[in-house]
Amino acid sequence: MKTIYESLAWKEVRLTAHAAAQHIALKYGEAGATGTRATLIAGTHGDEGPWSALAIKLFCENAIGALKGRLRVIFTANALAAEVERRNSWIDSPNSVDLDGVFPGNPEGSHSERVAAAIAPLIADSDVVIDLHGGGTWCVNAFVKRFEGSEQLAADLGAPFISNAPNKPGGLTTYAKSLGIKVANVEVGGRSSREMYWTERNVKGLERALVRLSVLDLAAPPAPAEKSIDVGATAPMRAKVGGIFVPTLREDAVGTIVPKGTEMGKILDLHTLAELQTFTAPHEQTAMMLMRPQICTFEGSALVYVIARPT
Ligand SMILES: [Zn+2]
Repeated sequence: MKTIYESLAWKEVRLTAHAAAQHIALKYGEAGATGTRATLIAGTHGDEGPWSALAIKLFCENAIGALKGRLRVIFTANALAAEVERRNSWIDSPNSVDLDGVFPGNPEGSHSERVAAAIAPLIADSDVVIDLHGGGTWCVNAFVKRFEGSEQLAADLGAPFISNAPNKPGGLTTYAKSLGIKVANVEVGGRSSREMYWTERNVKGLERALVRLSVLDLAAPPAPAEKSIDVGATAPMRAKVGGIFVPTLREDAVGTIVPKGTEMGKILDLHTLAELQTFTAPHEQTAMMLMRPQICTFEGSALVYVIARPT
């Protein structure tokens, strides 16, 4: 019996890109002939992609012969951004363009607008769209963004926290929702020693979600999700000044709630190593949605945490 991964039929759209190579491919795989169609996407932001792509691949390998509906996978939506581990492609001219802000795209536009225009029809003919992001190269995160009408999908994905999705103009998921498609945005994982823990947790979430939506039929039903904690509006915490960042809270803190006053991390002067800024948890219950778990050097205004309050 073939796995879903082995039964994927690969297709590609050619997109104009470099002068030297002329075109790059947007590749996607499809399996299943009839029924509910789910599209799983990773790498819309290039630096957040590989963990989610691996989760989708593991999901496709685990589920042997179990497809009830139709599945489409896009492992790397933003290939030029992925190869340099950046959020956005470097090739758009004259400015950096957020692929996740230009849907449904423009086939005559800049590179990222053309990528969006190639992906938009794949969104439009889906019944379910799960857009997987993550903390990426320097951050880890642990939440799902919930859309009105897709509440059960968000819960089934089983992240530690759920927040209501803001209306992001031009966002891939905003576009999907505008078409009446069931949709969720997964913001889970990133580079850390626990990256496979989060990847495997995402696999279980995909199984639960796609069994409930009749895309997948498993011999043994997946275990119910741990109940996610609902949080209110999310807030970024940024560096007031650039320097060397030394985290106090490490990667096991993401997805947890810490009490007010907990020291989260410090910024040291790049030249003298004097302490310039200390981050402390501002709320009685501070939900750690996103954090940097590793020592690094960053610029002033760098995003260091995203926090929220449980509702
Ligand atoms: Zn992202």
